[in-house]
Amino acid sequence: MKTESDRNTLIERFARFLRARNGRLTRELLREPGRFGLGQLPAAKVPDATTEMVCGFCSTGCGMTVHLRGGQAVNISPTTDYPVNQGTACPKGWEALTVLDAPDRSTVPLLRGTDGRRRQVEWGEAMTTMASRFRSIQAAHGPQSVAFLSTGQITTEEMALLGAVAKFGMGMVHGDGNTRQCMATAVVAYKNAFGFDAPPFTYQDLEESDCIVLIGANPCIAHPVLWERVTRNPHSPEILVIDPRMTETAMAATLHLSVRPKSDLTLLYGLAHELLKQNAIDGAFIEEHTRGFDEFAAFVQQFDADRVADATGLSAQTVRDAALRIARARRASFWWTMGVNQSHQGVKTAQAAINLALMTGNIGRPGTGANSITGQCNAMGSRLFSNTTNLLGGRDFTNPADRAEVAALLGIPYERITAQPSWSYDRILDGVRSGEIRGLWIIATNPAHSWIDQNSFRETLAKLDFLVVQDMYHSTETAVLADLLLPAAGWGEKEGTFINSERRVGLIKKVSRAPGLALSDFHIFKLAAAYYGCGALFEEWDSPESVFQILKRLSAGRPCDITGIADYRALDQAGGVQWPYPSENPDLSQERRLFADGRFYHSDGRARFLFEQPKDLPEPASTSYPFQLLTGRGSAAQWHTQTRTAKSDVLRKLHPRDPYVEIHPVDAKALGLTPGGWVVVESRRGSAVVRAFVTPTIPTGQIFLPMHDGSTNLLTLAVFDPESRQPAYKACAVRIRAARGEEVRGNDNTSTSH
Ligand code: SF4
Repeated sequence: MKTESDRNTLIERFARFLRARNGRLTRELLREPGRFGLGQLPAAKVPDATTEMVCGFCSTGCGMTVHLRGGQAVNISPTTDYPVNQGTACPKGWEALTVLDAPDRSTVPLLRGTDGRRRQVEWGEAMTTMASRFRSIQAAHGPQSVAFLSTGQITTEEMALLGAVAKFGMGMVHGDGNTRQCMATAVVAYKNAFGFDAPPFTYQDLEESDCIVLIGANPCIAHPVLWERVTRNPHSPEILVIDPRMTETAMAATLHLSVRPKSDLTLLYGLAHELLKQNAIDGAFIEEHTRGFDEFAAFVQQFDADRVADATGLSAQTVRDAALRIARARRASFWWTMGVNQSHQGVKTAQAAINLALMTGNIGRPGTGANSITGQCNAMGSRLFSNTTNLLGGRDFTNPADRAEVAALLGIPYERITAQPSWSYDRILDGVRSGEIRGLWIIATNPAHSWIDQNSFRETLAKLDFLVVQDMYHSTETAVLADLLLPAAGWGEKEGTFINSERRVGLIKKVSRAPGLALSDFHIFKLAAAYYGCGALFEEWDSPESVFQILKRLSAGRPCDITGIADYRALDQAGGVQWPYPSENPDLSQERRLFADGRFYHSDGRARFLFEQPKDLPEPASTSYPFQLLTGRGSAAQWHTQTRTAKSDVLRKLHPRDPYVEIHPVDAKALGLTPGGWVVVESRRGSAVVRAFVTPTIPTGQIFLPMHDGSTNLLTLAVFDPESRQPAYKACAVRIRAARGEEVRGNDNTSTSH
């Protein structure tokens, strides 16, 4: 067996390799394992078989080959012929198995007693208690007084089962997912513009575009495998990056548009204005396939280059230059992520990107599109089948015909299909504060770290009569608050499907045993139904595979039709399948985009131009708080609240040990801050003690904090996009100063635990 020192050496070598390749990992590691010290695995670890599945971290949805011995996973590598990643993976994917093996895995249900202490209980007692506590709350305060908060990390079959059991079985009215934090804006933007939540692209478009416009997106770090696809583009594309920071992606851009925080909407309207002036529009496409263009064209007249320059901090010439580069392109594509979605006018900013694609006819053709890259591995599954904002299959809770259709397809009494749409995440939390919600079930998400403005969040949860948390780990900031903690299996310990950003349905499999008494989320939802006395309604939902067949029925005739997938066990050999894939005349090509025929999902078949006046920042910088705080992903080795990635020795070596704030050298000098020294960042709501990373990549007057540290959301401002109710994490007013000795000593961040 290897000694601890051997292991550390091995990790160091592996980490050096990762750094040297700038996050790009190839099959070389497998071909030459000895080169990286991985060739001397103990005999028991030598694999005797492999199986294919998709990664469980991000929405890229890479194919991974799991190496098995005796049916159990012993190693993992990127699948060489999977169409998404073609043999590459980011560090998280390589370490996907490691994070399953952690000392803080949740292995047994924990129930808090009247003395405030938690004790281990059997599943029977756990589920009996959950059912009786939720039932008594509902009896006293109405069925809507118990709600759930779910996730984009569990399988589509699990999400659908949870949504059905909670709403049709347990009588809940309100349930939302953490996808509200990352994707709600894109959902609303697409639904209103296209008539359905339908990201139109395939990843191949990154290789076929000759002008790639990235808005509030840093794929080098957030979606490294997609950035790999950009680097393979043979057309020497223009790469325009709209981002205040000189991110890793912006460094590789042909034009970096370093706009002031949240002035991107003004810039996009300005680009539309310039494209009109340059007559770089596709009149025939607009005429045949869209509605509202004349009003939009009149609206953007006010956004001349000088006005845009004033608002964004760019020069008027730069704005004209950017428009010219888009105008010259035969195939322009517009991509956005959280810099757009997580803002106070996110929906209109996303729709401004859609407007650019529509007016230039850059949609439905290779290398084009208005393309939202989503975040979590199964955010797209959540958008279609979680039964939260939308009734199953992208239907409408308020539409009696939709409810009747779902009731008939599921064999569930019509009156059990609630006619009331769910409250959004923030409204559910308001309901907890006001006493309207008294029981809450949180599944596979960590809002006590990730929700905006943490100061009020913990007080809010403390108001609940009963909090159930279902998670892989007992140590998350949310799990430790639970009255009842249910131990859940993770990715690799269960099976089902995920849907990635390009609408590709992929399969995950059970390749490892969950520890202790932990069960798959699917099994826990089945237990919840049984103990609630509504199990008979879900007899057909007896396995992930049978639920997949139910989802197929629910999808029939919908834009997301997947009835052509006969057997989900064949998904891995197929390289995943993008929706739509109807049983009749399916398109068999491996890379498919939407709207090639110019028909959108509105009843008239036309896409909509949607727009409004840009609004001021919710909390502009002031004399007391002179900086704008930006937040985002810190490194490719970190995932959200780090409940998983912090478990990997390798991943921890790939990002700074201590949390840090990026600040420009001019600002640091003016404030007397030392590079690497401890500083305090304060907003009107809270403070964080972090190290100063002095770098010219952040503009003066702005600072940047990675979202992975728990203190970041002590600072953020609870503002939401009015249409999507997505939190606006990206800009609020803060100040910064050197930390005093006692502040550093009293700060949790100085530990190495995260
Ligand atoms: Fe691919 Fe995302 Fe997994 Fe990395 S985390 S391997 S990019 S799916």
